[in-house]
This record gives sequence, structure tokens and C-alpha cells, in this order.
Amino acid sequence: MQVRECLKKDVGQMKLQDPNFRPGLVVLQVGDRDDSNLYISMKLKAAAEIGINATHMRLPKTATEEEVLHSITEVNENSSFHGLIVQLPLDSIHKIDTEKVTNAVAPEKDVDGLTSINAGKLSRGDLGDCFIPCTPNGCMELIRQTGVSVAGKRAVVIGRSKIVGAPMHDLLLWNHATVTTCHSKTVDLPGEVGKADILVVGIGKAEMVKGDWIKKGAVVIDCGINHIPDKSKASGKRVVGDVHYASAKEQAGFITPVPGGVGPMTVAMLMANTVLSAKRFLDSHKSGNWNIS
Ligand code: NAP
Repeated sequence: MQVRECLKKDVGQMKLQDPNFRPGLVVLQVGDRDDSNLYISMKLKAAAEIGINATHMRLPKTATEEEVLHSITEVNENSSFHGLIVQLPLDSIHKIDTEKVTNAVAPEKDVDGLTSINAGKLSRGDLGDCFIPCTPNGCMELIRQTGVSVAGKRAVVIGRSKIVGAPMHDLLLWNHATVTTCHSKTVDLPGEVGKADILVVGIGKAEMVKGDWIKKGAVVIDCGINHIPDKSKASGKRVVGDVHYASAKEQAGFITPVPGGVGPMTVAMLMANTVLSAKRFLDSHKSGNWNIS
């Protein structure tokens, strides 16, 4: 993949600057969810391919909020790690405040872009001075690859979560689209969708968006990951998006498949944020720069 090849080269360049240097990423997991295990294995594999030193830090299901916060502080203070992501959802027998945990990550290592500091910068349009969450960042990259310019276009986002919909809205806005964000209380969803030149969907409902809602020629980005029963598969199920692909592809100018569209690009963007963080670290520690804090 194009993005991963570029990142591999970037890491090679960093090694030329300092042969002992490698970008470092920690994936912190609490518990043992099957879906989290699968996502983490994909992240670790991508990191290894690019030359990122990725560490999988596992805490048991019995971990308390205090223990999770302690592990985060350790990584925050370790200068060999440039990125830290907390795999969500947290799978603990104790009640853990997810917001508190994600906000404990040092903003300069927050390669998932989920701290309030990074989200605030993005919402104000300070795109060059924050980490952009990986799924929306991946969606933007997929839109860029279509060659369709975003500026001046009418964009519709379905979903307003912190991880997908809300940052997607901000990114499209600051790339100069006119953006409408829809959610569960939106009155006429098909009507709103029909206005979109660019449609990004992050609902979590299998094949909900139908082809006849979509404007002819629109760019359609489907973030959904839903498991539906399928007797023809050995596992008895298959993965589909939030868009009904078969009918939507007849209308759309471009449409991302599920699986295979947004998912792999999300992983690539996590690697890109980690490499960016490592670059910022190297630049701030170049000889000649004071490091007074
Ligand atoms: P989420 O936190 O559950 O948010 C879902 C959003 O959809 C909410 O804003 C909700 O509105 C809205 N919604 C729910 N039902 C709706 C309806 N009937 N009409 C209109 N809007 C509706 O989910 P998420 O974390 O954003 O994830 C969304 C999807 O993306 C999921 O399928 C998830 O698996 C997938 N995902 C994929 C990746 C990837 O790497 N490819 C990464 C993250 C997520 P309210 O705010 O009003 O409740």
C-alpha cells in the first residue's frame, strides 16, 4: 500500500539521522476481547512492516482504573515511546472511566487523537498542530485518492461519535466542505443523504444506508463494521458496512468496500501518526535545540 511504503521510507530516513532510533508505539489493552485481539494483531503487524517498535502492553480483566492510569503515566514518561493508544472498549470487571483514561495519555503521544486537547485543536481547525483520529484521517486520505476536491462540496456525515463522526465533521469542515452531521434524532435521513456530494457513514447498523438515498456520482465512505449471519460461511457470519453496498455502488461515483476500505486505511493512519510523533520528537531533540521543561 502507498501510505505504508512512504512511512517505511520515513523510518529509514530517521535511522540515517540516528542508527539507534526507532519510532516506538505502545498498544495498551485491558482484558481479552476477541475483536480487540484481532485489531491489535493487525496494528502490530503493520508496525513491524514499517519498522516501528510496537509493544503490546496487557493488563488483566481485574485491572483497576488506578492501575490503568499508572501504566499510562509510565509510558508517558518513557522517551523511547512516541505513541500510546488505549484499545477500547476497556474489558475490566471494575468500573473504569474511559474518558478519564483516554485523557490521561500525554497529548504529544496521543496518536489516536482522542484526548480533549487534540479534539479541541481539530475542532478549531489547528490541523497541523494536533493528532487527527485515525478513522476520519483514513477517510480523508481515501477521499483525496479519488481526486475529488473537497472544498466547496456538500458533505454529509452520519454519526457524531468522538472516534468517527465528530472528528470527521471537523476535518471536512476545515478542508472547506459545507458539512451536515446526522445522528439518531435526524428527522429525514434519506433526504439529508441525498444532498451529499461526499457521504461518510459511521453508524454501526448493518446496511442501513440504501442506494436510492444516494446522489448520483457521490463519493461514499463506509466506516461500518457489522457482523451478520451467513450460513454459507464456515464461521456462520460475515462482515458488512453501514451502507447497502450492492445498491449504493450503482449510484456512487466512488464507494469503499467493507471489508477492505476504511479498516486498513485506519491502521495505516495510526502508523502515520506514530511516525509523525517520532519526527516531532527527533526535531525537538536535535543538537542545538534547548530542551528545558
Ligand atoms: P457509536 O459510538 O455507536 O456512534 C454511532 C453514531 O451513529 C451515533 O452518533 C448515533 O447517533 C448514530 N446513529 C445510530 N443510529 C442511528 C440512526 N438510526 N440514524 C442516524 N444515526 C444513527 O459508533 P462509532 O464508534 O462511531 O462506530 C460507527 C461504526 O464505525 C461502527 O460500525 C464501528 O464498528 C465502525 N468503526 C470502524 C472503524 C474502522 O477502523 N474501520 C473504527 C471505528 C469505528 P446518536 O449520537 O444520536 O446516538
